[in-house]
Amino acid sequence: MEMTINAADVERMLADARGTGARDLDEILDRAEGLRGLSPKDVAALLTTDSEEHISRMFRVSGEIKEKIYGERVVMFAPLYVSDYCVNRCAYCGYACGNEFTRRRLTMDEIRKEAEILERMGHKRLALEAGEDPVNCPIEYILEAIRTIYDMKAGSGEIRRVNVNIAATTEENYKKLHDIGIGTYILFQETYHEPAYTALHEAGPKRDFRYHLTAFDRAMRSGIDDVGGGVLFGLHDWRFEVLGLMLHNRHLDETYGAGFHTISMPRLCHAQGMDMSRYEILSDGDFKRVVATIRIAVPYTGMIISTRESPDMRKELIRLGISQVSGGSSVEVGGYASREDGGEQFEVADRRPAIDVLRWLMDEELVPSFCTACYRKGRTGDRFMSLAKSGNIKNVCLPNALMTLCEYMMDYGDERFRAQASGIIEKNISKIASDKMRALTRENIDRIKGGERDLFV
Ligand code: SF4
Ligand code: SF4
Repeated sequence: MEMTINAADVERMLADARGTGARDLDEILDRAEGLRGLSPKDVAALLTTDSEEHISRMFRVSGEIKEKIYGERVVMFAPLYVSDYCVNRCAYCGYACGNEFTRRRLTMDEIRKEAEILERMGHKRLALEAGEDPVNCPIEYILEAIRTIYDMKAGSGEIRRVNVNIAATTEENYKKLHDIGIGTYILFQETYHEPAYTALHEAGPKRDFRYHLTAFDRAMRSGIDDVGGGVLFGLHDWRFEVLGLMLHNRHLDETYGAGFHTISMPRLCHAQGMDMSRYEILSDGDFKRVVATIRIAVPYTGMIISTRESPDMRKELIRLGISQVSGGSSVEVGGYASREDGGEQFEVADRRPAIDVLRWLMDEELVPSFCTACYRKGRTGDRFMSLAKSGNIKNVCLPNALMTLCEYMMDYGDERFRAQASGIIEKNISKIASDKMRALTRENIDRIKGGERDLFV
């Protein structure tokens, strides 16, 4: 059966959960501490409580879960916008059809150039992004763009994982994306509330709520086993959206054996042509609560924030549960080559170059990671989830993080960077629990310093 969601049912679940007693909330949070995740009903209770005591405990528990499962690691990625042609009119987006600006689609030479710049920044993992336009941006173009990126090697740099964020499409097209070797297929539901969805998607194929909602069913039936969900927080009530995400996650888990590989956490911000009075912008406090709730509910699902958030907000959210951030990002087609103002899909708050973001993470004692090992070792879908849920994933994540940081510092770091990264690597090697893995990591780090690349476990 495919994913369905009924707005009245979700609202009823939230209403029923309101006023859950202290003892039940304690019991839910006790269970959450055991890293087993929570049911949508539990999540509804956490989302609707007004108890300051329990909200504070939620923040503590989410921070502890983040620490236990992800330690100090933060996975790095960069978005790559290849086309801003779009036949949809989404009220909240700068690329909406009807917005007047000169649209473009990158040529393969331009994509090579963008990939080269990103590789020279040290990136190994991209999220390829494009608007929906079957004429100006057909699936064949996307496939060629992915091939071009995988083939591009700048010095010792290479993109090892291309995640893809393109419009909901057919099983046939998902099969093509699967066969070419994409990482995660990412699609934001935007909002799970069908009436709000219909009002905000004013024209174009994306207006079809059901087709959009069932995209992951088609993707998974076509062989794609890593999918990444998300909503644009601010389009509708945040409690409703978090519950929508959890119901979707449960559907995928029960039907295909693996829930979301990642959940993206964009918060609505201003874009060209947008009437901000239509939206309820989420306060920082509520947004932190959203991150904490999701971290508690799905401990093994990667959580992503983008440059929409300021450095200070990113710092807090990383402590609460975020496991992936973008660095040195441009949200403009051809933006890495031009770095000119304007023409962006939305406004970004963090414009620092990638190396500055890495320095900043290390100043916070965090470990930036360029790891793409699971995808390349075939640890995807249910294989990934079973390793993650057993808790053993962390035994490979930290060694891989340290090896990729070492690679980065050797290839792109200046003297100051190398000194800081060496300190972080040394400090964290001692945290690897297994003697054998610790020894292997040391050996691999020496090999990387000696010139070898792309070592992973
Ligand atoms: Fe097009 Fe996506 Fe923007 Fe909607 S959100 S207008 S589909 S680019
Ligand atoms: Fe992600 Fe797997 Fe690398 Fe861990 S080992 S950071 S789960 S790709």
